[in-house]
Amino acid sequence: MTIKFILDELLLSLVNTNDLNTIKNDLAMHKLLIVITLVFFVNCNSLAQKKSEEKKVTYKVEKTEAEWKTQLSPKEFYVLRQAGTERAFTSPLNKNYEAGLYLCKGCDTPLFKSKHKFDSGTGWPSFDREIKGNVAFSTDYDLGYARTEEHCATCGGHLGHVFNDGPRETTGKRHCINGVSLKFIKNE
Ligand SMILES: [Zn+2]
Repeated sequence: MTIKFILDELLLSLVNTNDLNTIKNDLAMHKLLIVITLVFFVNCNSLAQKKSEEKKVTYKVEKTEAEWKTQLSPKEFYVLRQAGTERAFTSPLNKNYEAGLYLCKGCDTPLFKSKHKFDSGTGWPSFDREIKGNVAFSTDYDLGYARTEEHCATCGGHLGHVFNDGPRETTGKRHCINGVSLKFIKNE
C-alpha cells in the first residue's frame, strides 16, 4: 500500500467528491513545488561541488605528505609544504652570488637565474624576476593583509612572497625566497 493511496483514501473519507478535485489539484501543486525545490537543491549542490573542485589545483608532481617527509628535511618540509618561513640570514644561499641556476628543492624545476639575484639586505635570497611559467602566484592573508605568495608551478611547493620594493632600475619587484626551498646548481 503506497502513501499516495493512503492519502487518497484519507481524503475521500474526509471530503465530498465536489471538493476532491480542488484538493487533488492542491496536492499536485504541492508535489510540483517539492520537485522544484529538490531540483534546485541538487543544482546548488553540484554547483558548490564544481566550485570547490575548481579551487583544487593539481600539479604535475603530486606526492603524499609521507612521501614529501621522506624526501625533504623537516625545515624544507615546513617551508615548502606548510608555507613556513626560514629565519632571516640563515640560508647559505642568501649571500651566494656564483653564476648558476636555482631549482626547486622539491622537484628540481629551474625557478630563478643567478643574474637576477640581488642583495636586498632582508636576509633572504632575493631575485628581481622568476623564470616565467615555472613559478605560480596566489594571494595569502597570513599576516592579516594581502601578500603575493609564490610557489613552484610543478609541485606547488611554497617559495616565498613578491613585493614591489625591488630594484627600480630593473623590474621593481623583490621575490623574497626561502633558501631552503632552493637547490643551487653552479654553471660549468
Ligand atoms: Zn617544485
